Amino acid sequence: MRLKNKYKFLVVFLLLTTSFYSQQIHRKTLKLMGSRFDISVVANDTVSATKYINLAINEISRIEKLISSWDTNSQTSEIIKNAGIKPVKVDKELFDLIERSLAISKLTDGAFDISYASMDKIWKFDGSLKTMPSEEEIKKSVLKVGFQNIILDKENSTVFLKLKGMKIGFGAIGKGYAADKAKMLLISKGVKAGIINASGDMNTWGKQPNENDWKVAITNPLNKNNAFALLPISNKAVVTSGDYEKFVTFNGKRYSHIIDPRTGYPASDIVSVSVFAPKAELADALATSIFVMGTEVGLNRINQLNNIECIIIDNKGGIHNSKNININKI
Ligand code: ADP
Ligand code: MG
Repeated sequence: MRLKNKYKFLVVFLLLTTSFYSQQIHRKTLKLMGSRFDISVVANDTVSATKYINLAINEISRIEKLISSWDTNSQTSEIIKNAGIKPVKVDKELFDLIERSLAISKLTDGAFDISYASMDKIWKFDGSLKTMPSEEEIKKSVLKVGFQNIILDKENSTVFLKLKGMKIGFGAIGKGYAADKAKMLLISKGVKAGIINASGDMNTWGKQPNENDWKVAITNPLNKNNAFALLPISNKAVVTSGDYEKFVTFNGKRYSHIIDPRTGYPASDIVSVSVFAPKAELADALATSIFVMGTEVGLNRINQLNNIECIIIDNKGGIHNSKNININKI
């Protein structure tokens, strides 16, 4: 009888310890930076998982306050308000993000440009655009765009937009940066594994509780239900830019919502780009850049960079990948 009780106790104890102390994926979905974020952490119990997830949320919200151009009190808005007037002193964090953004502009010959934000919105993707904008309108729309006119003074930590009416926006890099920072913070707090997924910008670290790598499925937007590749991603980010929701068609040509900041014309060659990189920030920015650069130039550029890979789906359904990526067919 005593033995039996002891045995029962042992079973209950084992059950308790496995449910309380076994590693599980805990996940929360919420809207941050105007986008859907899924934050997953591997943790022993719900209490610590919630604590970690909240830390990540606070970090992402903090960054949103710094880089938002909607929030009229943000440092970014202050820079925009003073365009053509005077340099604005900003936190080192924002200064550094702008400095890195300019480096990506140079790397992509201006395909990536945070000053895209001043572009006149002559392209509409809600069905209201019935005729193609004129060449003149298109040229005029990019007059205030140009990363060369973003002047940084490192010593004084100031940013100056040279032209009146210039604007900057972090739509193609901010989510990636926030995901990197949230990941770094959780790693520093001892979280062994997790995924920060910012509307498809995935940033992972560690492994799944079953010791397998995290995997990402790549789908073809022209055939949405079919994933064509399942790729392991460990301690890496993968970011996808796609035009399958927002585009217009004129004379049989498809124009996407990503506009070439140098010409004012929308990118039209590509329907989806996934970039794999050690950091989500770079992956995010490069995905948008490749869209603008097109398949050939984009692949060429990626093949010159270490530890960065991409998969491109063109508007004819063709699949192109950079030289060091191994697409396992599912
Ligand atoms: P999503 O945010 O929908 O995943 P992207 O990551 O490709 O898409 O970013 C697109 C956003 O980036 C646009 O909505 C706009 O805010 C901004 N953007 C568009 N074109 C450029 C560009 N050439 N350089 C930098 N940012 C851009
Ligand atoms: Mg992006």
